[in-house]
Amino acid sequence: MHSPTNDTTALQARRARLLGPAYRLFYEEPLHLVRGEGVWLHDTQGKRYLDAYNNVASVGHAHPHVVEAIARQARTLNTHTRYLHEGILDYAERLLSHMPPALGHAMFTCSGSEANDLALRIARAHTGAQGLIITRYAYHGVTAPLAEASPSLGALMRLGHTVRTVPAPQPVGQDPAEVGRRFAHGVREAIAELAAVGMRPAALLVDTVFSSDGVFTAPAGFLQEAVQAVREAGGLLIADEVQSGFGRTGEAFWGFERHGLVPDIVTLGKPMGNGHPVAGLAVQPGVLAAFAATCRYFNTFGGNPVSMAAASAVLDVIEREGLQANAQVVGTYLHGRLAALRQRHPQVGEVRGAGLFVGLALVQPDAAGPPPGQLAARVVNALRQRGVLLSATGPAADTLKIRPPLVFQREHADLLADTLDEVLADPAL
Ligand code: PLP
Repeated sequence: MHSPTNDTTALQARRARLLGPAYRLFYEEPLHLVRGEGVWLHDTQGKRYLDAYNNVASVGHAHPHVVEAIARQARTLNTHTRYLHEGILDYAERLLSHMPPALGHAMFTCSGSEANDLALRIARAHTGAQGLIITRYAYHGVTAPLAEASPSLGALMRLGHTVRTVPAPQPVGQDPAEVGRRFAHGVREAIAELAAVGMRPAALLVDTVFSSDGVFTAPAGFLQEAVQAVREAGGLLIADEVQSGFGRTGEAFWGFERHGLVPDIVTLGKPMGNGHPVAGLAVQPGVLAAFAATCRYFNTFGGNPVSMAAASAVLDVIEREGLQANAQVVGTYLHGRLAALRQRHPQVGEVRGAGLFVGLALVQPDAAGPPPGQLAARVVNALRQRGVLLSATGPAADTLKIRPPLVFQREHADLLADTLDEVLADPAL
C-alpha cells in the first residue's frame, strides 16, 4: 500500500494530475489527514484537530461498534441489492420506527443527492406537476436536476426552468409570527411565478435547518404556513434531513419535528452510516404509488448488506449512548459559550441553530474592519492553525457553521469557544 507522504506540494501536484481541476477541497492549503477517532482528526505531521465540521462522522470517527459491524458484514455477505437480504428489512423497520407513522416505506440510495433526486421523481409522479420550490441559497445535491436547483453551487449553475427560489427565513429578533408569514409570502410568490408559465409545484424541498442559507431554526413552527400554501397548490413537502436528521437538533430526532409537520417525503444521508456511503428516504405509501406504478426502482449499492449493517450500528450507538440528549445538553452549553463571546468581541453577531447544529454570524463592527465574509474565512483558517476545524456558510459566507460529531462533550465545546476567543482577540486577524 502507498504510505502517506508529508510533502504537501508533491501531494497537490499529484492531486491535480490525477483528479483534475474540478474537485473543491477545504482550505487553500488542503488538510492532509491520515486518521480519525471520536471527535479528533490527525494529519500527516502528527497534529491533532478537533472536528467541529464533520457531521458525517455522526457517532465519532472510527467508532468501534460501527467499524466492527461493517467488518463482520463484509466478511459474511455483500451483494447487488436486487437479491433480498434481511438486513435491509431490519434497518427499514428500525428507521421507520423513528418516523411519524404516516411515513410507511423506506428506500435506499448511496448519497443524499440521489435521495433528493428520487424524492423529486416520486413527487412529480404523484402530483403530475414539475415545479420545484427551494430556498435561495439551498444546497440539495450534485445530480444534474439538483445542481440546477442548488444556487449555493455558485454562478456556474443556472437555475433550471422548473425551479423557483424563495428568500430564506430572516434572522431571529423579529416577531415569530412575522417570520412564518414572510416565508409563506415568498412561497406563494413562487407558486404564482410557476403558474404564470403554466406550471404547478410538485414540491417544496427544504433543508429544515437551512444550513446553506446561514443556519436558521427559529422560531419553531415557522414552516407551517408555507407548507400549507404548497399543499393547497397540490404540491408536497420534501424535508431534506441530510444535515439535520438523526438527533442533531437535540430536542427532536428530525428537524421537521420542530415545525409540527409530517412531510410527504423525508430524505436522509450524511450521518446515516458514520461516513459509510448510505442514504435514502422515507415516504408516505400513497405518495409512492404513482411512481411505483410507472417505474421499477433499483439501486445497485443503495441498501446493500454492508450499508445496512453500518446504518444499523449507527442507530445502536445513537440510542445506547443517548446522543440525541447529548446534542441537546452540549449544544445548549456550546450555544451559551458562543453567545457570551459577544461581550468580548464586537465581530460576533447572532448565534443561531439547535442542538449540535450551530451558526455564529460574524458582523463588521466598524468600517475599518474586513467585511464579515472575509473575516469568517480568516477565522476559519486561524482556527485550523490552532487545531479546530469548522466552515463558513450563508449567502455572504459570513456565518461560522459548527456541526461536530454527536459525541461532542462540554470539554470540546470549551476548547472550541476558548480557541475562537483567542482567534478573535488576535490583532493579526
Ligand atoms: N442535502 C443537503 C442539505 C446537503 O447538505 C447535502 C450535502 O452537503 C446533500 C443534500 C447532498 O448529499 P450528498 O453529498 O451525500 O450527495
